[in-house]
Amino acid sequence: MGRQRPPRLPPRKMTGSLPTVILAGCGYGAIDALRALKGQARVIAINPYPYIVNSGMSTRLLSGRFSLDLVRIPLLEHIHTNGAEYVQGRVTQIQPEVQTLTVQTELGRRRLAYDYLLVNVGRELRTIAGIHHAFTIRPAEQLLAAQTWIRDCWRRAAQGDPTPGLLTFVVAGGGCTGTELMGELYDLCQEMSATTGIPLTQARWVLINRNRYLATGIAVEKEGQNNRFSRCIETGIRRLGVEIWAECQVKAFGPEQVWLEDGRELLAQTRLWAGGLQVPQWLSECGLPVGPEGSLIVDECLRVKGSERILAMGDCADFAWGSQTRRLPKIGVYAVRQGPIAAQNLLRLIRGQPLIPYRPQATAFVCVTVGNRIAVAKKGWFIWRGYWATVLKNLFDWLYMRNLKPVRWREFFY
Ligand SMILES: Cc1cc2nc3c(=O)[nH]c(=O)nc-3n(C[C@H](O)[C@H](O)[C@H](O)COP(=O)(O)OP(=O)(O)OC[C@H]3O[C@@H](n4cnc5c(N)ncnc54)[C@H](O)[C@@H]3O)c2cc1C
Repeated sequence: MGRQRPPRLPPRKMTGSLPTVILAGCGYGAIDALRALKGQARVIAINPYPYIVNSGMSTRLLSGRFSLDLVRIPLLEHIHTNGAEYVQGRVTQIQPEVQTLTVQTELGRRRLAYDYLLVNVGRELRTIAGIHHAFTIRPAEQLLAAQTWIRDCWRRAAQGDPTPGLLTFVVAGGGCTGTELMGELYDLCQEMSATTGIPLTQARWVLINRNRYLATGIAVEKEGQNNRFSRCIETGIRRLGVEIWAECQVKAFGPEQVWLEDGRELLAQTRLWAGGLQVPQWLSECGLPVGPEGSLIVDECLRVKGSERILAMGDCADFAWGSQTRRLPKIGVYAVRQGPIAAQNLLRLIRGQPLIPYRPQATAFVCVTVGNRIAVAKKGWFIWRGYWATVLKNLFDWLYMRNLKPVRWREFFY
């Protein structure tokens, strides 16, 4: 019998000497931070799910162009590859004075200590009375459920189901998400009309918008220019035959209807809620400085004002440059650029090096799909509408996702 080899011991964890960095929420900064901090810190990533949904791609779940698998980023894989730890749960409180935070997990509450913290929890869906009677933009699975439901409505209509409002489709919320949803919804209806033989003219689409213009949330530059962009989007949406009810507010959803603030009632079997996002309430209760909408106030290096060890980024942060608070539009194109800066600055905090500033792009590329494979894109003063805008949007999505998981380019272009 040959000599037996001694069993291999697992590599020794060096966590004792390494500082602990907690990623509270795994938005656009998480993967950058995991990669930058590999071997430099004990990293704990906290997120409710072991994956991240690329919300910019998620509206296309409704039309069935993208699958759930395609829009998901495998967070857990990145955590393991980079030697980090994962806590599945939601942060419910930060105690900056003692450098701890509270996480609600399935097994109960946990308190974790950090040396450095990155807050990247994004924003959560604004709620409304009767929201359970509507499909919502989050979680992404809801859009898949909506797709199944809408297909079913068309099939029922083809079988002669007389239910009132069976082919009436309402999207509440005329921001960029609601507008995109309406475009995707139309495309799905177009497909189902061809499948069932029911003419599209028998369907009705209503986009309810609290504001006068569509997609104003991504307004970045001067007013005139934004109105031009909104009008271009509106033209695209109207061409589909969609009714736009502007300056109109939804009060509540019912099991078969939408009630408006002005007393009107709209009968519709399909109701989608895209009425905006808000910063989680608990952030305002941590004793950290917050802006008027509850976002954490950060300096140009993404460090929470008055705090040496906490960074924040993305949708849950507003900027204070000097004495002024600046609110960047809450869109992914800004968050995605803040990620690498936040990651570098965490590393620099650990090493005691000076932090690097984040400089928002002067003009961001924004693009809203408006159905029929058409999109309206804007970069600075340049606005264009057409199929090539959709191709460009998909190209950016593909370039971003291929850096995070194996993807086939064919899945992105339609
Ligand atoms: C449906 C939809 C479509 C969009 N389309 C576009 C688009 O086309 N282009 C564009 O530029 N922008 C778009 N946006 C906006 C864009 O998605 C956001 O601006 C961007 O995701 C913000 O990034 P973030 O890193 O701040 O947070 P997020 O990407 O929102 O990530 C936050 C993460 O934190 C987790 N989390 C939340 N709360 C907690 C908690 N308490 N504890 C722990 N983890 C938590 C969440 O599960 C999530 O994984 C869209 C948004 C939505 C909802």
